[in-house]
Amino acid sequence: MNFVILVGPPGAGKGTQAKLLEQELGLPQVSTGDLFRYNLKHQTELGKLAQTYMDRGELVPDEVTVAMVQDRLSQQDCAGGAILDGFPRTLAQAEALDQLLAEFGARITVVPSIEVPREVLVQRLLKRAELEGRADDNEETIRTRMLVYEEQTKPLLDYYGSKGLVVAVNGEQSVEEVQEDLLEVVEEAVQPQ
Ligand code: ADP
Repeated sequence: MNFVILVGPPGAGKGTQAKLLEQELGLPQVSTGDLFRYNLKHQTELGKLAQTYMDRGELVPDEVTVAMVQDRLSQQDCAGGAILDGFPRTLAQAEALDQLLAEFGARITVVPSIEVPREVLVQRLLKRAELEGRADDNEETIRTRMLVYEEQTKPLLDYYGSKGLVVAVNGEQSVEEVQEDLLEVVEEAVQPQ
């Protein structure tokens, strides 16, 4: 089993890159943001619960998020592993993931960190707001999401760094160039099935 965890601030391009990697590696992309948005669209209980947090740019509580991921990773298409995008986002989530993978007898393969300067990120997110009209892409929410990233998610780079799993990828390049660098990093790390 191979589990690739994409880490990076909001707007770094994790979703775009995860979708491309999915095709290249044949592993499913598991995006907690997409899963929450799907639930929101279909007005499930989970969606309604997540909405209040998402609208403010805050994180959905760990128990809720972890349960959703646990459910998703237990599905048949994840039997060979997955590309995680947007999860884990807190240390508690990372510890829960370690426990879950231990139950599967699996380990994390590699943690590519997509790095993009802050000013570039804000510009990208504002542009995405115009193009896609995502509810949480407004200036105030973007500021909150950046802060949440700095405070809660960035510590994961030390957590995984101490395990020797983090490899930096320059995210301030074209989508294709980032993809090329990322593929190189991932292909070097994945275990043949
Ligand atoms: P981005 O990375 O561009 O900020 P995502 O699509 O990954 O956006 O996530 C959108 C929102 O969904 C987050 O702001 C948060 O409210 C919620 N969310 C996504 N992933 C998680 C997670 N792992 N833990 C808690 N909340 C999450």
